[in-house]
Amino acid sequence: MSILVINAGSSSIKYTLYHSKTLERIDHNLIEEIRDHHEGFEVMRTQLLIHGIDITQINAIGHRVVHGGERFHEPTLIDDEFLAEITALIPLAPLHNPANIEGIIAARAIAPNVPNFAIFDTAFHQSMPPQAFRYPLPHDLYHTNHIRRYGFHGTSHYYVATQAAQILQKPLEELNLITFHIGNGVSACAIEKGKSIDTSMGMTPLEGLMMGTRCGSIDPSIIGYLMREKGMNIDEIESMLNKKSGLFAIAGTNDLRSVIDAKDSGDENAALAIDMFAYRLKKQLGEYMAILRGVNAIVFTGGIGEHSPLIHEMVCKGLEHLGIGLDEVKNRSNDIQIQSSTSAVAVLVIPTDEERQIALYVQKFLYS
Ligand code: AMP
Repeated sequence: MSILVINAGSSSIKYTLYHSKTLERIDHNLIEEIRDHHEGFEVMRTQLLIHGIDITQINAIGHRVVHGGERFHEPTLIDDEFLAEITALIPLAPLHNPANIEGIIAARAIAPNVPNFAIFDTAFHQSMPPQAFRYPLPHDLYHTNHIRRYGFHGTSHYYVATQAAQILQKPLEELNLITFHIGNGVSACAIEKGKSIDTSMGMTPLEGLMMGTRCGSIDPSIIGYLMREKGMNIDEIESMLNKKSGLFAIAGTNDLRSVIDAKDSGDENAALAIDMFAYRLKKQLGEYMAILRGVNAIVFTGGIGEHSPLIHEMVCKGLEHLGIGLDEVKNRSNDIQIQSSTSAVAVLVIPTDEERQIALYVQKFLYS
């Protein structure tokens, strides 16, 4: 009676085991430094046996898959045809999808009779209209090469949106929300009547806001300039933009706690990094306030979004003219609702739980 949720990375497997009816968390573990995913699943099989769980007898496995392209709008039962289609999407997500696929193959090998489901980071954003998802580039690049904005962190944005609906005691379909997932990766989502109508990440998770080590949106001409003037090749540039930019580039570390400590000790680069980080979030908030006709709540989640009153304050400060006000005491005491008594817009701090959302999707498949 259990559901196993798998997040397979290139050299690690994170798994969480839930009771399939109550969704009580039975086990959670990160298996690191694996040579391949078959080895990882063998380690997991042994660990699950400690809890008396035989992996071949569980109800279902839910896999996080980063990129579902335009093909996958919702959680999908995995079969051979699915594997072929998802393999064809690898060029869109070369950093993530191969490991996700390896995890699926290993799961099917070790437990052939257990159904596997794929849950995509992109799926929630498939409701975006063309004006939001198209790039102003030649049509052919969209129709032939599938170059468009997809968005990521969808499982997290959806999960916190459902939690916000519970807190506000209103159906999600009646709510307009702006959700900020602020961790090492950072993205925002404009949710209209429960559906994503825009999000800050694009064809890849590199677009949009400033992140831990990713630059977010920059002038695309910088890439050509670096190739011509500095003789950098495309791999070097992509590596720099993904792994050596963002907070890391400006402050020397991608860990916001360390950046805040450095700022407090007078480090000017750390102060600049935090100003840039919060400024871009605030601009994003303004954009989404403009496209949503009325906003019920702003939601903060992710490691930073859940734990940094400083970032909440820097993003929401001075926005009384937009109906947004913070209660400083509630913010500093880590309350769930941190808006002031006069704020027209609720400001919520909600822990995300992507694994639980994946388990909820799988549970719906199993029992509805
Ligand atoms: P995540 O990727 O969601 O695990 O988030 C990681 C980020 O959250 C790192 O930049 C951490 O420094 C940041 N973080 C975690 N706890 C805190 C905290 N108490 N204050 C500020 N940032 C935090």
